[in-house]
Amino acid sequence: MKKHFLFLLCLALLVPITSPGWGIFAHRTIAQISVYTLPAAMQGFYFRHMQDLVRLSSVPDERRDVSPKEASKHYIDMDHFGDNPFGAMPKAWDKAEAKYTADTLRKYGTVPWTIMEVKDNLTEAFKQRDTLAIIRLSAELCHYVADAYVPLHTTENYDGQLTNQTGLHALWEGKLPERHIAEYKLDAEPAKYVKDPLADIWKVLQESYGFLGETYDREEKVTRQFTPETKYNFSHKYGKTRRFYSDAFADAYHKEVGGMVAFRMKQAPTFISSLWMTAWKDGGSPNLNELMTKKPGKIEKDSLDNQLKIWKKNGLAEQQLLLAMQKQAATVQADQINAATDMAPPVLETTSPAEPAPAPAAPASNPKAPEKVKAKVKTEAGSTKAKEKEAPKKKQPAKKDDGWGAPAGSGW
Ligand SMILES: [Zn+2]
Repeated sequence: MKKHFLFLLCLALLVPITSPGWGIFAHRTIAQISVYTLPAAMQGFYFRHMQDLVRLSSVPDERRDVSPKEASKHYIDMDHFGDNPFGAMPKAWDKAEAKYTADTLRKYGTVPWTIMEVKDNLTEAFKQRDTLAIIRLSAELCHYVADAYVPLHTTENYDGQLTNQTGLHALWEGKLPERHIAEYKLDAEPAKYVKDPLADIWKVLQESYGFLGETYDREEKVTRQFTPETKYNFSHKYGKTRRFYSDAFADAYHKEVGGMVAFRMKQAPTFISSLWMTAWKDGGSPNLNELMTKKPGKIEKDSLDNQLKIWKKNGLAEQQLLLAMQKQAATVQADQINAATDMAPPVLETTSPAEPAPAPAAPASNPKAPEKVKAKVKTEAGSTKAKEKEAPKKKQPAKKDDGWGAPAGSGW
């Protein structure tokens, strides 16, 4: 009994581990695969800069440490906007702002409009033939689009903190891909021109939202097989106790939701490369070979061909070809490319946007997701006010020494 009481006391004193987005590992892997899905006219240029692109794809999360405006660009808490949020929320920024105010939108997240802004900036970079800006903005676009594929980026209960599942965010998008990447099939589809990027971004977000119910429910299901002592690991550093899901729990949870995580991770690269391609075409389809000071030689071309073959056979992890698993090589222009400046607030669209479309059906795998989230939030002891107090936590970036044993350079 005494032991039980002490354990509960420890739980009350815990410092939860929160996460700002896909882990660095997943972000970098998504960036690398995006390059493989590009058309030939773009692929040589992106392959030449793949190391930089992969490294820079995680910079927006690092920027959260220094920029208070950064955090809300990575998510949108749709459940804040009622029972039918995708029907209620105007897709275009100016209409959404008119309905909810810019302050409210920034408080609950702006990821769809951030993606549009970065895409437009990338289009301009192509028009200017600005290599450094093309690479930097492609990496930024990669990051924010990838975040939109994560279910927990669409809810106020982003870390399971309202349903006694704190740490779920890092588990889903960090620990699972890091431990099970070799089992994911990542053979994404080729890039395609996107006629209506904003509509497609909202579709991605709605699909993500539809997966929320399973994300929480499967955790509860797996929890029944564990005791608190086996479910969690604890680390004690600097007088603080941190709690995180154990490897055994992660592996059991992977059996339940690994297909979903792999599915979202496989879908993201195609949409990312499609938006790169759209920006390139809208930017006048500049000849990217002319932007390379040295033309690709046989070794470089063979290397790309070899990687494409291995990727199609799903062998990148096994053959140690995932850059996210390797130490990043220093590059001559690293400092120039790394100067990722803080972005301005979302661009106000000047075109007359369409009326909000009726919400498409939620993914068949989880038609009840939104209700599930809401029900869970309602049963929580905390009031709505308490929930709003929780939200700013998302703006506090997780520290890198979270004891996850993630690959070198991984920072949650
Ligand atoms: Zn992020």
